Formats: sequence, structure tokens, C-alpha cells
Amino acid sequence: MDTLPNSPEARDIEYHMHPYTNARRHQEVGPMVLDRGEGVHVFDSAGNRYIEAMAGLWSVAVGFSEERLVEAAVQQMRKLPYSHSFAHRSHGPAIDLAEKLIQMAPVPMSKVFFTNSGSEANDTVMKLLWYRSNAMGQPQRKKIISRLRGYHGITIASGSLTGLPYNHKSFDLPLPGVLHVGCPHFWREGQEGESEEAFATRLAAELEETIQREGPDTIAAFIGEPVMGAGGVVVPPKGYWEKIQAVLKRHDIPLIADEVICGFGRTGRMFGSELYGIEPDIMVMSKQMTSSYLPMAAVMMNARIFEPIADETHRIGTFGHGFTASGHPVAAAVSMENIRIIEERGLVEQAARVGAHMQARLRALSDMTPVGEVRGVGMIAAVELVGDPVTKAPHGKPGTLGAALQAAMQDEGILVRALGDTVAVCPPLITTETQADEIVDAFHRAIPRVAAHMA
Ligand code: PLP
Repeated sequence: MDTLPNSPEARDIEYHMHPYTNARRHQEVGPMVLDRGEGVHVFDSAGNRYIEAMAGLWSVAVGFSEERLVEAAVQQMRKLPYSHSFAHRSHGPAIDLAEKLIQMAPVPMSKVFFTNSGSEANDTVMKLLWYRSNAMGQPQRKKIISRLRGYHGITIASGSLTGLPYNHKSFDLPLPGVLHVGCPHFWREGQEGESEEAFATRLAAELEETIQREGPDTIAAFIGEPVMGAGGVVVPPKGYWEKIQAVLKRHDIPLIADEVICGFGRTGRMFGSELYGIEPDIMVMSKQMTSSYLPMAAVMMNARIFEPIADETHRIGTFGHGFTASGHPVAAAVSMENIRIIEERGLVEQAARVGAHMQARLRALSDMTPVGEVRGVGMIAAVELVGDPVTKAPHGKPGTLGAALQAAMQDEGILVRALGDTVAVCPPLITTETQADEIVDAFHRAIPRVAAHMA
């Protein structure tokens, strides 16, 4: 990249190590520097306008210039910019938000524990479960079952739960005691002649076998995203969650719903759990919880999880876990206002309505070369590209087509995200039908450009 000395681009290359970035390649291509946002749009430092069709990282529900969130933050900053929640200390914003989340939960829940990120929340979940097993006099019950292509974060514990190779490779992960069962992606993993329902039955049988092989009394929990996000937007096959839950119930194994992407309206329901009749013992939330204006996440648990843990804290004398910024008052105030906006403006209903329109229009891309599959639900979708429609093999090096489509969409003024050869779309919940059409129309122009370069 040609950069002027001292330009933001040059200084970024000089000083900034980026997450999820090839550090060597970054020295050549440099950053895309964004400057400001307004509604569903962001503007780069050269003034170019884009639809942020990934809502940042699946997260800016209410759009980029919501004054009410700014105002909520400013007011809280003035009143009590920081306080903690260690050792019986509390404050209004954390109390209000914990109460609100419990009221919103699709199943009866007991307590909320706050963290700063989804990864920390899933780390906390793992520690809560280990602590609980010890509290119950079952020290052998420590294993967690997750899924291939599931995404639960990147810290040592949550990165272990994640089922993606690049989150493990050279990090010496996953930790022992984390098991990964099959990914519920029917189009890729379904067998010749198998129905969706039969595929779901096969995955439930695999879970049952895994539990039997490991010993049911060694399993602390099963974790899954209602709809997988970062693993490539995988919508579960018909009957999947019902069958998985039947297996877990049979063995009395707690279920964790990772709602970090699905929560707060993304699927067209307030929580992804509602869409699939999931009855979790633990729910993990973040991202759209504050529209990511500030970092915050939460672990919500039912009494079955909380009570033995509470007893153990009493026995030990404290709960030796917590973050300086757990339940941060400014983030909590912003989250409350964000949830109020989602409710007042009917953004969950809007996501269902605009989402249905967007999904229907996106499906029409299925017939275009090199599209393999178009999938999604509500306001989360993906277009997967293939080199060979029969074998579903990639074109050349895996990820080549995905990167080309992401670049072609950017030329069209639409920011999407390539996850290998799958291009994800996850616009803010405020996206209108017209804006959804702009996104889909851009795909119609960009895909043939990618196809033209395949020969
Ligand atoms: N869980 C899910 C489902 C996610 O999508 C993510 C992030 O994308 C995480 C957990 C981790 O959250 P964070 O990046 O805030 O650590």
C-alpha cells in the first residue's frame, strides 16, 4: 500500500497489531480506516459511504448514530462513571439491567453475572460449571461438549469451546476436557438421500454416543449457538434442537445457549432460543446488548446452576471470580437504553419483517455461479461460494472466492464479511426493506464479477 508518511494508514501499519488479521499481509495492504457512522452507514477516511451490512461484528442493532445511547452514556458518566460490584457493592444501572434481563428471559432464570466480552462470559461459564460440579461433590463432572464450527470466543477456555481450526492452531488449544461434536450444517454434512430430520436424528445419536463413551457423569454441559454465526451462519436442520435437548434431558446435562449473536432480535425473535424452543440453563449475551457502543456481556443462569454455586461461595467465603468492570455502570446504562429502543421501536418485529424479505430475495442468488448455498434466518444470512457445485469443493485455495466477493461488495459500497468462502450478511436491525434491497442488488452485480475471474 502506498501511504503518506505519518498518515493514519502508515501509523496503523507501524504501531497496531490487529485481531484476526494476517500481520505480514497487513504491512502490504494496510488498514481500511473508518471515520464515522450514521444509521446503517459508515464512512471511511476518504469520505466513501458504505452500508455496514455486518453491523460491525454482528452487533450494532440500533445503527451508528443513536443519540439516545450517547446521552445515556453522558448522563451516567456525569453521575457515577465507575463503580464495581465486588464484595456486596452495587449500583443502579447494574441492578436495573440484571432485573430487565431476567424479565426478558424466555425461560425462568435466577441471576445475571456481568463480564466485558463474550469470550470472558464463556470463560466464566466454564468456571461456573467446574465450581458447581465441585460444589455438588462431583469433581469428575468437568467436560463440556461443544460443536465443530461453533464460535464461543478466543480466550483459553472460550477458544477451546470454539470449534474452528484457526482458533486452535499454534495456540495449543483446545484444552483437554472440551469435546466437539458434529456441525449441524445440512447442505455440507448431510448424506446422500438423507432428510433434514434424519440428519438431525443422526447428530443427536452422535451426541448420545459421545456422552455414553465419555461417561454421562463426566459431562458438565453442552454449549451451542441457536444459529451458528462466525462458523459460517449455520441454521439448524428441522428438529435439531428438540432432538439435542431430549438427549441432554435424559442425562440431566445442562444446556448453554450462546446468544451473543442471536440475542436481542437478530433472528426475528428476541432470543434465538425462542425461535427453536430451546430451554437453556445458561444464556450468554453480548454484542447487541449494548449495540456494541460499549463492551459488555452477561451470563444468565437458572436456579439449578446458581444454587449449588451460592452454597460453595458460602463454604469458601467468597466467589473468587469477577472483573474490575463487571456490570460497568456506563455500559449498563447504555445497554438499558439500547434495549428500551429495541422494544419501543419494534426492532425485533422489524427484523422479522425485513429479514423475511431479505432472505427471500437472497435465495434468488442460489442459481448464480459460483453460489453453492444461500442460508439464514431473520437478519442473519450467508452466501457460500464453491468452485464445483457437485463436489462443493473450493475454487483454488479455500477462501479465494469469499475474499473476491467481499472485495466486489465493498466496491459496490456494501461491507460484508468473508468467513472462508462464505460471505456473511448481518445488517443492523434498523435496516429498512429498501436498504436490504440495496444489499441484495449489490450481490446481483458483484457475484458475476467474481464468476468472471474464475476461468
Ligand atoms: N460467542 C459468540 C456466539 C460470538 O459470536 C462471539 C464473538 O463473535 C463470542 C462468543 C465472543 O465474543 P467477544 O468477541 O466479545 O469475546
